[in-house]
Order: sequence, then structure tokens, then C-alpha cells
Amino acid sequence: MFKVLPILLAVLYGFVMYRFSVWRTGRELDEKSTELADPRLVAMSKQMAKALDLPRIKVHIYEIEPVNGLAAPDGRIFITRGFYNKFRAGEVSAEELASVIAHELGHVALGHSRRRMIDFSGQNAMRAALGMILSRFIPGVGVWIANMLTSMLAAKLSRADEYEADAYAAALLTKAGIGIAPQISLFEKLDALTNAGGGRPPAWLMSHPRTEDRVKALTTLQSKWDAKPKV
Ligand SMILES: [Zn+2]
Repeated sequence: MFKVLPILLAVLYGFVMYRFSVWRTGRELDEKSTELADPRLVAMSKQMAKALDLPRIKVHIYEIEPVNGLAAPDGRIFITRGFYNKFRAGEVSAEELASVIAHELGHVALGHSRRRMIDFSGQNAMRAALGMILSRFIPGVGVWIANMLTSMLAAKLSRADEYEADAYAAALLTKAGIGIAPQISLFEKLDALTNAGGGRPPAWLMSHPRTEDRVKALTTLQSKWDAKPKV
């Protein structure tokens, strides 16, 4: 019993942290967001909603500067004010912004956004529990190994999520008649932004795999789809 107790406590701690961060994220987003009303973008999201047989896709603007898109744990989709400003300035097209909406929609549809919050707190619990167990066998380095294993697992999971969300977006954009070209051109634009802007990548790129790898995955998908006879 005494051996299990610390692990139980770690799991409980993780769960409480999870509930708290879901609540805090939701509140922060409520306070700092408005519904996206730009007619060109609303038209784009209508096109995608139709492809999904949904009445509409609601998108919000999150009032922060960093260029980013996000899917909240409750399933709401956000584009940051900074990203929207790039669209207003003509640096990013409506189709490219639609590809971000489609990607975030993929995270929601595939259950990533909920799981990611669990991952975050679950990671803390796993780190603590694994650290305790490993320390019994290898004192000193046990905690260090536990940290490394947890981080590696988390990075692998999140990379897999990104490829899945990209593939979902590609399918949706194709069905909606927008195509995957804006997805690829946006990756390249954001990459160029990184190179020109002193090497600090936009937030949206930082949490994602390498651009070349993502573009390669997309073109592979496209060629597979093209090879299939149309019905
Ligand atoms: Zn993503």
C-alpha cells in the first residue's frame, strides 16, 4: 500500500492540474476572444462546413499577437489577431488561413485537443511516478531518465498528432474545392518569415514538425488520391 500511495498521489495531482488548466484556458479564451466575422473567411468556413455536412464552423479571434491557430479542449477553434492581421495585410491569403482552420478542426475531430490537455498534466504525473519507481533501482539518475523518457514520448505523440491533423485538413480542403496548395504555400511562407525575422519561428511552427517533412507527407497523400480512380 505504501508503495502505491505516492503513485496514486501523483495521478491525483495530475488530474487536479488538468481540471484547473482546462478551466483556466477556457476563461482566458472567453475573455480575450470575439467571433470571426470577416466575410471572405466566413465564406471559406461555410465552404468547409458544407463539405462536412455541418450547419457551420464557428471560428474565433484570440486577441494576442503571435501568429498562431489553436483548438481549445472544448472544441472551439481560434485564430490569433496576429495571424488575422497578416491576412488583412495581404501577406496570407483567405485560402491559407482556411488551411489553418482546417488543421485545427482536424485536432478537434481527431480528439487531440482534449487529449493534449490530459497529456500535459498526465505527463507531470507520469514523470513523478516513473521518477519514484526508477529511483529505487537507480538512485540519482532515475529521475533524469524518467524526465527524458516522458519528454520523448510526449514529443513523439505530438508530432504524430500534427501529421494526422495535416492529413485531415488536406482531405477537407480537397473536398471543399480549396485544395492542398494553400496548405503548402502557407508552410513555406511561415518558414520564410522565420528566416527573415532573425530565426524566431512563429508559434504555430514551433509546436509542429519540420516544414519539409510536412510538405512531403501532403504531396504523398495527394499523389495517392490522384492515383485512385474517381467514383
Ligand atoms: Zn497542429
